[in-house]
Amino acid sequence: MIERLEKIFIDEKSLDSEVAQRAFQLFPRQKIEVVKEEPWSDIKRSLTAEEFERSKKNIFLTTFNGQFFKRCPGSTQKKVLNCCNYHILNLGSQCPMNCSYCYLQSYLNSPISKIYTNIDQALSELKEMADANSHLPFRVGTGEIIDSLALDPLTLYSRKLIEFFKQYPKWTLEFKTKSNLVDQFLDLGPATNTIVSWSLNADYVIQKEEHLTASLSDRLQAAQKCLSSGFSVAFHLDPLIYHEGWKENYADLVDRITTQFTPSQVNVISLGTLRFQPEQRFMMKKRFGFDSLVNQAEMFPSEGAKLRYDASLRNEMFKFVYSRFKSHSESWRIFLCMETPETWISTFESQPMNKPELKELFRPLPTISVSE
Ligand code: SF4
Repeated sequence: MIERLEKIFIDEKSLDSEVAQRAFQLFPRQKIEVVKEEPWSDIKRSLTAEEFERSKKNIFLTTFNGQFFKRCPGSTQKKVLNCCNYHILNLGSQCPMNCSYCYLQSYLNSPISKIYTNIDQALSELKEMADANSHLPFRVGTGEIIDSLALDPLTLYSRKLIEFFKQYPKWTLEFKTKSNLVDQFLDLGPATNTIVSWSLNADYVIQKEEHLTASLSDRLQAAQKCLSSGFSVAFHLDPLIYHEGWKENYADLVDRITTQFTPSQVNVISLGTLRFQPEQRFMMKKRFGFDSLVNQAEMFPSEGAKLRYDASLRNEMFKFVYSRFKSHSESWRIFLCMETPETWISTFESQPMNKPELKELFRPLPTISVSE
């Protein structure tokens, strides 16, 4: 994955950082440039499609001066979305993979990928929170505006985080990825409070929409490696994308998961259907054309100002996948990600708090002081 980077810009203030030093070992010198300022910092508007493409291939190693730790956007919309207690640690932005539906297309306006080199500051922020709340089951994820592991062979941040979370067994660390890059931290297992989670999709959708990601087989194989080394594993079947033959393709996906894993081996399975911000449409059409399933989709305005399939199609897709899992075993723990109470009720005839297997995940926690 890191081989796809065309240029590595290093902020001169970050030259002594471990990540910068590793960059010198991993990349030919001509790919590296030490700079005083962020490249293309004069761009202060939404990116064009070409600038967005370029931002995936160029990376800036620099420090982050804001607050690293914040709440999941879903948890700030509790009135309209059912969301689990999730907190986010942002250690960089942008992603070298290229999914057609990626929400970063409407979210990011930085013209370059970034890795923050001051991980020690992030860890001390985290330590302050963890020391004050070590008795509470907080969940922290790193994959909000960057894939958690795609650039990990360069940063090795997974190793620092896993070691850190070992000190707080009630806290859970979640990596979220579409890569298969796990070998760099397997020797740190067992660490059951680290959940390595994969966004999974039907083979057909991966090939058509999730460009440059690891194949389904490779993702499942990486999950097996994590289990064997003592890490926890979770799967996100998200976004489920409507297409001709979706039932057969998603049945095949569920069957591959259920034949390769047992319910007790998989921490949780979340389901989500295609959703995106309206302003993302233009970029998706320009970058992926009408051949892409996301650009053929009929979408409607819904909660959280996003476009989604209409409620009956969402229900049909959720029910189909949910029933397929349950037909293999009632023990699969399945929840809906970023969905409304109405969808929960029409899919499961119940709110998440009323499902015994999900109670712990959705139990409200006391508020701690983090930015929203
Ligand atoms: S892997 Fe995730 S972050 Fe990367 S392009 Fe795909 S959706 Fe976006």
